[in-house]
Amino acid sequence: MIKDTKAKDNTNKNGTAINMEADFSGLTIAVLALQGAVSEHMDCLERCGAQALHVRRAGLLQEVDGLIIPGGESTTIGRLSNLFGFGEEVSALAATGKPILGTCAGAILLARRIEGQEPIIPLMNIAVQRNAFGRQRESFETDLAIPALGTEPFCGIFIRAPLIKEAAEGVEVLAAYDKGIVFVREKNLLATSFHPELTDDLRLHRYFLGMALGQQKSIFNCTEVRSYNSGAGIKERNNQI
Ligand code: GLN
Repeated sequence: MIKDTKAKDNTNKNGTAINMEADFSGLTIAVLALQGAVSEHMDCLERCGAQALHVRRAGLLQEVDGLIIPGGESTTIGRLSNLFGFGEEVSALAATGKPILGTCAGAILLARRIEGQEPIIPLMNIAVQRNAFGRQRESFETDLAIPALGTEPFCGIFIRAPLIKEAAEGVEVLAAYDKGIVFVREKNLLATSFHPELTDDLRLHRYFLGMALGQQKSIFNCTEVRSYNSGAGIKERNNQI
C-alpha cells in the first residue's frame, strides 16, 4: 500500500525543520531484513542518497552508521532476532550513539514495556500496546503535525499499529494523534507507530539520517515524564503493565 503523496519541500522556515540539502552519500544504514517492510525502507534510504544494507545475519552491525527495524509482525521479527542473536548486537549499536529507527513492529521491539508480554530488545523508555488502533481492515492514514520535520503535515499510515502509551523519562514526544503518542525520540533512538516508508515523503528518513551525521540534535527539553494514561513513569509502573 504505497500512498502517492508528494514529497514535501521543507524550507526550514521555523528553524527546527530538517536539512533538505544534506549529503548522506557517505552513510551506510542497515535494515533488519528478517520480515516485514524491508525493501520500502531500503528504497527510502537510497532515494535520500544513503547506502542501504540488507541485514539478515548477525555480525554486520559494527560497520554501519545506523539501523532501521521495519514494521511487520513483532512476534516473528522478535523470535528470529533472538534466534540469530541480534538483541545484543542492536543493544551494542545503540550504546555507540548511532541512530536506530523502529517503525511499527520495530517500535514494539525496542520498547521496554509491551503490554501483556515480555519485552524483546528493551532499549527505549516507552510502554506500547500492540494493535491499539484495530485490525488490518481498520488501517487508516491521517495528517500528523510533526514540528521536528517542519510545518507541513506528515502523512501517518497506521496498519495494526501500536500505541505508545507512555513515554517516560528522557523520551521526547515528537507526534501524538487521537489516542496518544505515535512518534518518540530517546537520544539516538526513534520509534514510530506508523509507516513513514509507505509514503513518498522522505522527511522522516532524512531526520534519521541527519542524526547519523550528528546534525539532528534533540529539539525538545526531555526531562519531563510524559504519559497519556497516568502521571507515573515506566520505572514506577513496572508491575502494572
Ligand atoms: N500489529 C503488529 C505487531 O504487533 C505490527 C504491525 C505493523 O508493523 N504494521 O507486531
